[in-house]
Amino acid sequence: MTDAAKTDFDLTPPTDDERRKLETSLTAEEREVLLHHGTEAPFCGGLLGEKNPGVYCCRLCALPLFRFQTKFESGTGWPSFYAPFHEDHVVAVRDTSYGMVRIETRCARCGSHQGHVFPDGPPPTGLRYCINSVSLEFTPVGSSLRDPLKRRDDAAIQAMAASSA
Ligand SMILES: [Zn+2]
Repeated sequence: MTDAAKTDFDLTPPTDDERRKLETSLTAEEREVLLHHGTEAPFCGGLLGEKNPGVYCCRLCALPLFRFQTKFESGTGWPSFYAPFHEDHVVAVRDTSYGMVRIETRCARCGSHQGHVFPDGPPPTGLRYCINSVSLEFTPVGSSLRDPLKRRDDAAIQAMAASSA
């Protein structure tokens, strides 16, 4: 397992200037979900049926958050994963909105809202990361990561692949 290994990605938060620039590329719906903790309608997300090999990255800062190997069909209508790309890339925050106690997940680099994690997922973790499609962007295997913050994300993902091989 690679989980115990340190991430090779630069998780330093974007500066205010960088953040403003990133936010200008968002659509109104992406803005509502990522920045204002919105939730997209179920069964509408563009990545629900995505099955190709690749990584799911943060829509705002492009940090890899999930791998295609951990995606599963949960029946909820939102893309679901049983494990993050790396423990350090997804931050869990207690969320008591709407009279419920849930665990919200955020991108560890830019802090944008992704979805929630529930304790009713499949083995081996028993976790279900229930994520909004608009919070993610899919990068197929063989394509470069978008790397809008110029953090050498491609070098990082290659280093991690090499160390886990
Ligand atoms: Zn991010």
